[in-house]
Amino acid sequence: MDQFPVGRASFDPAPPAAERVWRHVVDLLEGERKEIAGRAVSAPVDVRRLRAAIGAYDFDRPAAPDDVIDDVAELLRATTVHTTHPRYFGLFNPTPTLMGVIGETLAAAFNPQLAAWSHAPAAAEIEAHLLRFLGGRLGYPPETVAGSFTSGGAEANLTAVLLALTRTWPRYGTEGLRALPGRPVLYASTESHLAWLKIAHATGLGRDAVHLVPTGPDLRLDVPNLAHQIAADRARGDLPFLVVGTAGTTGAGAIDPLPELADLCDDLGLRFHADAAYGGAAALSDRLRPALSGIERADSITVDAHKWLSVPMGAGALLTTDAEGLAETFRVTTSYMPADVPDTVDPYTSGQQWSRRFMGLKLFLSLAVAGRAGYAEQLDHDADLADILRERLTDTGWDIANDTPLPVVCFADRADGTWEHHDALARRVVGGGRAWISPVRLNGRAALRACVISHRTTPADVDELVHAVNDARG
Ligand SMILES: *Cc1c(COP(=O)(O)O)cnc(C)c1O
Repeated sequence: MDQFPVGRASFDPAPPAAERVWRHVVDLLEGERKEIAGRAVSAPVDVRRLRAAIGAYDFDRPAAPDDVIDDVAELLRATTVHTTHPRYFGLFNPTPTLMGVIGETLAAAFNPQLAAWSHAPAAAEIEAHLLRFLGGRLGYPPETVAGSFTSGGAEANLTAVLLALTRTWPRYGTEGLRALPGRPVLYASTESHLAWLKIAHATGLGRDAVHLVPTGPDLRLDVPNLAHQIAADRARGDLPFLVVGTAGTTGAGAIDPLPELADLCDDLGLRFHADAAYGGAAALSDRLRPALSGIERADSITVDAHKWLSVPMGAGALLTTDAEGLAETFRVTTSYMPADVPDTVDPYTSGQQWSRRFMGLKLFLSLAVAGRAGYAEQLDHDADLADILRERLTDTGWDIANDTPLPVVCFADRADGTWEHHDALARRVVGGGRAWISPVRLNGRAALRACVISHRTTPADVDELVHAVNDARG
């Protein structure tokens, strides 16, 4: 009777069977949580064996849910780079909060449709509330904040480009790029996230429209050089329209000089976007917030919740105070969409997606339970751990190669500065399974990169990382 039904009946089994499989999942996840720190952070993958294991599912015969769940969990356990591991010092991928995972579960089960407001009023209002909260912490007047949750930072940056084009050239939306009197160009630093190239490709600007401006020795965008490039491009007949300041570069966690960029954009009549996909989280900490000073002057801001705000992927956000511009960029009316409700915004008219999931819930639950102060404590703790790491590395013969208040630590071997050496060191550390770090080039200089981002990371894990890199060096 409480046998889990297979076939079509498995879509919605009755309580005893459904509850048992839920309990199985809860036990499995709690087991993972207990064991993760004792496992290798990553392990080599045999692609053929992996494909064979997956290929064994031909879907001809239904399988029991516990068996499939265990099987998939084992595949994930054995092959994934464990971003939930306390010694994953990696690429801005967090260990998700428990409330974040629960938020994903609730969002999936209720499955609200966030296209039209009228289909999902609570979900739409929760997201709008979160955007006002985040925007407010970043320095926008909260009541003016508009925006949208996105799949991640790349989509948020795409949204910013579409908004900037629409606002700069009202004809762009109807007639396209060919209506413009020249070639639009945008600027970001050589250390910026290169989603800009894909965005330029997709929008029809073309990849050559992205002008990468060199950084100074501090790895921050060189503003005089930018001003010079803009003048030269204008003299050539090109149409500069957008400057991007990155607040927390992927390589070095560097924060571009946002106030100077805002001044320049004011002077030259250009749009200013702040890409704070990673660094924007710092706005929740009173101690770290000053590092983002000037960000409130940006026309739009990208923040990823699925990075340092530690919710499961994917959740990014585009914030702006230009609600009208956003509405103009994504306007559309159809007969088949439910009519709009006065004094509300339909999510599908403020972002690129149409049908979309309730991305904001995982952040809402995480924030509500941790509190803003709980987040601040975690962010400050990560920054403190990075300080400890810098100190230990300096003491054991490494040079710190970047300068940032954010917990991104780039370090180079004093004895051998080559890329080959650092690449080999990273491979040795990762291969040993004790920690996950990556090699990075900063202004051409080779280094290793470690980002403290898991809320599970302790000072002992930082020590273990230092031992791992020193052992790798031999
Ligand atoms: C991660 C990141 C992106 C891309 O965001 P996704 O969430 O991966 O789409 C863009 N810019 C910066 C600065 C980032 O750190």
